[in-house]
Amino acid sequence: MNWGLIGASTIAAQHMIAAFRSVSAGQVSWVVSGSADHAAGYAAEHGIASHGTDLEAMLADPAIDSVYISSTNEKHRAQALAAIAAGKHVLCEKPLAMTVADAREMVQAAEAAGVTFATNHHLRNAGSHLAIRDLIASGRIGRVLSLRVHHAVYLPPHLQGWRINDAAAGGGVIPDITVHDADTVRFHLGEDPAEVTAIAGASGLGEGVEDSVMSVWTMPSGAMVFAHESFTHRFAGSGIEAHGTEGSIFARGVMTQRPLGEVELVTGAGREAVPFDAHDLYARGVARFVAAAAGQGRPAADGWDGVKSLAVADAVRTAAAEGRRVAVNYEG
Ligand code: NDP
Repeated sequence: MNWGLIGASTIAAQHMIAAFRSVSAGQVSWVVSGSADHAAGYAAEHGIASHGTDLEAMLADPAIDSVYISSTNEKHRAQALAAIAAGKHVLCEKPLAMTVADAREMVQAAEAAGVTFATNHHLRNAGSHLAIRDLIASGRIGRVLSLRVHHAVYLPPHLQGWRINDAAAGGGVIPDITVHDADTVRFHLGEDPAEVTAIAGASGLGEGVEDSVMSVWTMPSGAMVFAHESFTHRFAGSGIEAHGTEGSIFARGVMTQRPLGEVELVTGAGREAVPFDAHDLYARGVARFVAAAAGQGRPAADGWDGVKSLAVADAVRTAAAEGRRVAVNYEG
């Protein structure tokens, strides 16, 4: 597959360019940025042949069959709709858009055009999370009573830009991390959150946007979910716990971009370490995308997964702002 990058971003530099090149001899041939100088420097640094500020020029290149959108969040919608109109497959970063309605429009446009559209929710590609989901699905912890998601981390200084001070660009920890946790919970439980309550605030980094949030979600099965996301916790680590009638799963250090952490199953028989595969999360996501575009299977997280994770985050934000219990509105 021959990829064009929309957005000369950190995530593309740190993870995605290598992932694209690692799958089926993939190529990255274009990068488009809002800044010509930034695009030129980025292209030189990463060995990308074509670069510039003209999205239409890239989309007019017949050699490009897929685009990866990792610009700031307010740009995703227009860039995705343009790429879909040009017949390109689209792998889009989360949150898909600024509103659920916009995200739905993007996914519906892709369906109408017959192109593959996916959301880059990496965690469901982690060996740790695949192992956790298998334990739950095979009944090892019985009926699930609750999930606790610990995703309060420290935003590294080089990312302390739009995320902490620019609501118009989609800043704030809710669009940044709560969407990932919503997708991960949906992945593990195979159902969509129904209602949420939340409290959010700024605890040291947020300037006009929240940098911390705690929320509680109800699930249709009756399971309860507690989620904690933050940009300000230096030493908290991360994790997810699933508690059921027959056992509990404790996964530590697994809400991360790399194949790290540990998973432990506790039942009446005792404690056991659960092995999992240490493959690259992003490369697996790209492989699933490339296969889906070739008509084999579906992306790891498709467009509707991105719509739903955004809908949950949206409900969390409303619940925190208005101090009330909010039903998740997946229809936008
Ligand atoms: P960055 O802040 O690194 O980049 C976002 C945009 O900022 C770039 O696309 C670029 O704009 C602009 N930019 C960055 N550096 C410069 C510079 N030196 N000069 C000029 N412009 C610059 O964002 P991230 O990589 O952290 O995030 C990008 C997207 O990816 C977001 O939607 C985010 O939510 C998502 N993300 C997803 C992750 C995942 O694991 N799925 C992890 C991290 C981020 P331009 O578009 O004009 O090139």
